[in-house]
Amino acid sequence: MNRLQIGDVRITSIIERDGPWRVAETMFPGAPPGAAHALLPAMDPRTYEAGTNKMVITYQSFVVRTPHHVILVDTCTGEDKGYPAPMDYPKQPWLDGLAAEGLTVEDVDYVFCTHLHIDHCGWNTVLRDGRWVPTFPNAKYIFHKREYAYWEAQAKLGPIGNHKPEVFLMNCAPVMEAGQAVLVDDDFSLDDCITIIPTPGHSPGHCCVNIASRGALAIITGDLMHHQLQVNEPGWSTIFCADPEAATASRLKIFGSVADTADMLLPVHFPNPTAGRLRHTAQGFRWLFVD
Ligand SMILES: [Zn+2]
Repeated sequence: MNRLQIGDVRITSIIERDGPWRVAETMFPGAPPGAAHALLPAMDPRTYEAGTNKMVITYQSFVVRTPHHVILVDTCTGEDKGYPAPMDYPKQPWLDGLAAEGLTVEDVDYVFCTHLHIDHCGWNTVLRDGRWVPTFPNAKYIFHKREYAYWEAQAKLGPIGNHKPEVFLMNCAPVMEAGQAVLVDDDFSLDDCITIIPTPGHSPGHCCVNIASRGALAIITGDLMHHQLQVNEPGWSTIFCADPEAATASRLKIFGSVADTADMLLPVHFPNPTAGRLRHTAQGFRWLFVD
């Protein structure tokens, strides 16, 4: 992502993986047959590879620097987790990205996870001497209390279907055990620039991160949407959404709040330049990247 300045706040990103990946028809079960294929040629060409019919899906963490803090939002899949392919990404690109930001793990003051899926909390921890420990020794880790409680309860149930309790047990529980977790409610504010917006649906306690400074505003939207298609079709939730109808309602809430303003959205899985604005047209919402 290009460097973005929101008032006094600077936002950059660290990329774990990039490029074409999923086919739309397998991602959006509510889409009528052929509908995604018909829409994709109208999308920004950076979001779709026509030759393979694959959507471009990026995994990245955002680095948010306020005048007071360094905040990492969402931490990709991480290292040494033992996940099967394709979730076993090489760790070096992310570590190189952190270094390219001029940061060491000691420099991060806060880690915030929009939700606790496998690709948003991985670098929360690293393996040291056979134990999972917080990657960022000086950071407080911010979790929404509903999201944390849900995955904590799920982990106790063990593996069910596609649910992998080890994601929580490796990436979140050790942070709590180390005393670095902070469970917050809907009214949480990190400082005078950073607040959260509850956007349940993709997961039970999913939140967006609202960044406001000197009249400018950007919202890190986590997995509120995975692809530009969902701007045109907010009713298309993904196979990964816990409550598809609630996910749609959350999208419409955020879309309605920023459409036709200068406010920017930063969806984690959108490729470079990632940030964009919404326009409301007679045909519905439309996405415009901010280059
Ligand atoms: Zn995701």
